[in-house]
Amino acid sequence: MNRSPDLPEPLDVIAVGAHPDDVEIACGGTLAKLVQQGYRVGIIDLTDGEPTPNSAGPEVRMAEAEAAANVLGIDQRIQLNMPNRRLFDCFEHRVAVAREFRRYRPKLVIGFGDKTPLASPDHWQAMQITDAAVFYSRLTKWDDHFGGVPVHGVPCHLYFRLAVEPDAIPGNSHHLIVDISDTIETKIEAILRYKTQFEHKPDIEQRIRAAATVTGAAAGKKAGESFAAARPFAIDDLVKTVMGTS
Ligand SMILES: [Zn+2]
Repeated sequence: MNRSPDLPEPLDVIAVGAHPDDVEIACGGTLAKLVQQGYRVGIIDLTDGEPTPNSAGPEVRMAEAEAAANVLGIDQRIQLNMPNRRLFDCFEHRVAVAREFRRYRPKLVIGFGDKTPLASPDHWQAMQITDAAVFYSRLTKWDDHFGGVPVHGVPCHLYFRLAVEPDAIPGNSHHLIVDISDTIETKIEAILRYKTQFEHKPDIEQRIRAAATVTGAAAGKKAGESFAAARPFAIDDLVKTVMGTS
């Protein structure tokens, strides 16, 4: 009989990116806010993002990712070492991500929600891997693929978009904006930890701030990040929800 392996302390939220810096750019302000609100937050990077033109190698990139996670207050950053630039949705990758969902038992998973034209095609593959992993995580009678780690049903799944992509993700009718007025500076600080990626792009700070300003302004806030719900979700207190922080 298989004994269940020891499980780590659960995470409330896991955000999944293809490369270190995806998650910071997409939803760093929201993750920092969740941490401030007392939630345990994790990040899964499917690849190490290397090689890139201005990086000395994976060790440097990993150190940057760790520094960025510390700025946001992330509890756990997980590197799955899938191949950068040739990331493909396949059974093994789905199982690898689902195994982390089973181990960390998140209430909410946030991941890519669309293609990113003119940017890395890994992002689109990451969406498909994450979608499948959310499903695989809850499948019974499949324990041999997961080393005996018990099933976990992920209750909620949101899609993020990179900060400079359009706010609404086509094909998704349920969007929401998180007010990141108090954490936009933390988000920028985390992104700037990726010196190999952004030191030669001095306008990155301005672009991230401008994108957050436009997104937030649509909802009357100083700064925001936009998400689409993978499926509609029900709320309990309509007034409290629509009033938000105002
Ligand atoms: Zn990326």
